[in-house]
Amino acid sequence: MAPFYWSPERYATFHACLRRYYYRYYAEAPAFRPARDLRPRTAWADEWLRRGAHEFLRGGLDEEAAAARLLQVLRDDFKASRQHGYRAQPKTTDGLFEHEYAISVPDAEWKDLADRAVADLRAFCRTDYARALAAVPAAARLAVGEFLRFDLLGLPVDIRPDFAARTTNGVALHAWGPPGDGARPLARAALAWLAVGLWKAAPESVEVVEYDFPAGPSAAHRFTAEDLEAARELVHDAAYETRYPLADPDRNAAREQDFDFTDDEATCRACPFLKLCARWR
Ligand code: SF4
Repeated sequence: MAPFYWSPERYATFHACLRRYYYRYYAEAPAFRPARDLRPRTAWADEWLRRGAHEFLRGGLDEEAAAARLLQVLRDDFKASRQHGYRAQPKTTDGLFEHEYAISVPDAEWKDLADRAVADLRAFCRTDYARALAAVPAAARLAVGEFLRFDLLGLPVDIRPDFAARTTNGVALHAWGPPGDGARPLARAALAWLAVGLWKAAPESVEVVEYDFPAGPSAAHRFTAEDLEAARELVHDAAYETRYPLADPDRNAAREQDFDFTDDEATCRACPFLKLCARWR
């Protein structure tokens, strides 16, 4: 079994359903692989929108070109998913939950979804916030939407800053999410440590900017050494909780029977492992 790492996504899956968490991160049977990254259509469109915004910030595309590219990518990806391309190539083809489970969605709804994503990307590109980030010189940039792994004092952590750059005073990291996202404190804690652990920033020079994607507003957070210690504890406690059901935490070994089913049928109805789950077989 691959070594354990912690991430905000892993923690969210753990809290959605323990058995889903087992299927996502531990089940080794090939049947589970294509289901791991299936997304329902709104999450799928939101992910492509976010990637489109990253691409705009990387430069080379103006608003018009970024919008046209997003629409094309959505069309191509939809087509590949409808042909179940994710079954043969789960690593390179995104899969839609609706295609795997043959859920009928009117064409007009797919079109609205794509139109909304494109309109949101355009709205983002026009914000002062996006213009300011797009103008950050390449030499100052540290990351734009890549997943990064770092060592948080003995704990491997995976995290994706939406944007990170050196400033005159230190390092600024940007995290995008919907307003009122309850997962923000943990992600903020991990991002602050990313700057310290990976880019060797002094704690008091780190700024984490949380932005209500796509059109703002944003809120900036700074950290004292005490805040950073509290952030370390928060992430380590979350990782400890996530490892608790493991049969052998040192080897990151898990047994299926140690991971309970959720009682919430609504969670099951949107679960990518619904067909494979022992609760429903
Ligand atoms: S179908 Fe329900 S119980 Fe089974 S893994 Fe998914 S969410 Fe958990």
